[in-house]
Amino acid sequence: MANKASSSSLPSINEDAASVDEVPLYGSESGWVEARTHCDHLASLSQDLTHIPTPDTQCNRCQHPDENWLCLCCKDVLCSRFVNKHMLEHYQQSDHCLALSYSDLSVWCFSCDAYLDAQVILSLRPAYEIAYFLKFGEAPPLRS
Ligand SMILES: [Zn+2]
Ligand SMILES: [Zn+2]
Ligand SMILES: [Zn+2]
Repeated sequence: MANKASSSSLPSINEDAASVDEVPLYGSESGWVEARTHCDHLASLSQDLTHIPTPDTQCNRCQHPDENWLCLCCKDVLCSRFVNKHMLEHYQQSDHCLALSYSDLSVWCFSCDAYLDAQVILSLRPAYEIAYFLKFGEAPPLRS
């Protein structure tokens, strides 16, 4: 990540396509590549992750409209560290460390300080699959 500045080889053909989703599902820097398959904090997960708020739910505190995070412990929806950091604040105040991003459906553990692989970690999979369905209207592609 140190040599980020040298991206001049990419042609900028996307200038008139600004309305496509800005966040690629498996972007090279999204963290999926290095997502952990193990986390010691899964005991704090909500018992019922089959009923979760929809991806267009506003931040509970500042009403930020999109790309919020879902707390997987209490199912609060809170904005990201790039908005008003309400998810981060929530973690610091409540110790709820597991959150799912409604922008790219990645799962972050604040305590591990790492992304988690929600398709490999079985207790995360229902939340991931339902969030995916709510966002895209179809089941996620299966990975073996
Ligand atoms: Zn907020
Ligand atoms: Zn919470
Ligand atoms: Zn963890």
